[in-house]
Amino acid sequence: MKVAIVKERSPYEMRVAASVETVKKMIALGLEVIVEKGAGIASAIRDEDYKNAGATLAKDFAAAVQKADIVLKVQRPLSSKEEGIDEVSLLPQEVTMIAMLAPYNTPEQFKNYASRKITAFSLELAPRITRAQSMDVLSSQSNLSGYRAVIEASNLFGRVFPMMMTAAGTVPPARILILGAGVAGLQAIATARRLGAIVSAFDVRAAAKEQVESLGATFISVESEEKGEGTGGYAKEMSADYQKRQAEKIHEAVQKSDIVITTALIPGKPAPRLVTDSMVRDMKEGSVIVDMAVEAGGNVEGSALAQVTEKHGVKICGYANLPSRIARDASALYARNIFNFLNLLWDKEQKKLNINLEDDIIKATAITQKGKIIHPQFASK
Ligand code: NAD
Repeated sequence: MKVAIVKERSPYEMRVAASVETVKKMIALGLEVIVEKGAGIASAIRDEDYKNAGATLAKDFAAAVQKADIVLKVQRPLSSKEEGIDEVSLLPQEVTMIAMLAPYNTPEQFKNYASRKITAFSLELAPRITRAQSMDVLSSQSNLSGYRAVIEASNLFGRVFPMMMTAAGTVPPARILILGAGVAGLQAIATARRLGAIVSAFDVRAAAKEQVESLGATFISVESEEKGEGTGGYAKEMSADYQKRQAEKIHEAVQKSDIVITTALIPGKPAPRLVTDSMVRDMKEGSVIVDMAVEAGGNVEGSALAQVTEKHGVKICGYANLPSRIARDASALYARNIFNFLNLLWDKEQKKLNINLEDDIIKATAITQKGKIIHPQFASK
């Protein structure tokens, strides 16, 4: 069977779905690997590296996928001339495609996959269970994003993070507030702490308190009986009363902070608005905000996709696709995640795909099969 790795053409995307290591592993499984020329270049993987690992190079997208049984991607395939290329119509009928298909942002694409009889898997939907950890693309990429957000903040901040006592005087430490203490937020806390900042953090999930404190940060609590946990360990949308109390707490904390990093997301919903313009106004001149939720609508009023804007003397960073800004590591980890998922679909004896829809991970990620949208959450839409 043939597996194709293609160049990503979505805006701001620098990652690739296979590394030299995973190409070798796929060949060891008995797969023939075809890589589109230039697919890895933005992640510092040269065509020759893939070739030396045993892959065949293809001159463009169409040539790479035309005989493929499996296509591995980072982002969903583009689907119209307006997007630059209609990749979906170039995919062979009945191909198996594994990627991050942005199920909540672009579910309308699923009809296209069904009409081409594509068996499509969206890795973001993998359950957060122990067995799925090695395939958990949200964790591998959010972890790197959390790190990168702190680096971006430090780059925009005109001061240092640690306290410095020098012959020329003492520099006070930076105070950093992290809103949302999931995978990205916890890594942001750890990174900011490593750089010597004083860190506090907030999350609606009570379970986050212990994790935040174990990293040496202060947890900010909102007094309320309401639970922030929704299904699958994710957060839910909070009541108006809770949001009001939360806004007061956040306003207080934002005023005392030099840097705010926001990571709050609710699956399938717009990102909660946590930092308003009046809070930004009350921050000190020269403060920095990084809105990591900008692609989901933003946690911060005034953040703009892929831009650094300045409001009331505060820089608001809305860089898109933070993992792509550290593409080598992001690709290496993503490639392992996608390989581990492929391995789950692979019958090692028969050397062919064996898609067992009874398996919890496969069932949760399968979007289309045999011309139908089979995922219960999206089938009716
Ligand atoms: P996420 O990216 O969906 O959201 C980021 C954070 O924002 C979450 O911690 C969420 O609680 C928080 N948030 C949402 N609304 C908020 C609000 N109004 N104010 C403040 N914070 C808000 O989350 P994630 O990083 O993907 O983690 C989701 C869950 O999955 C967590 O419970 C995490 O511990 C769990 N998880 C489990 C595994 C596993 O394999 N067992 C792996 C990774 C994550």
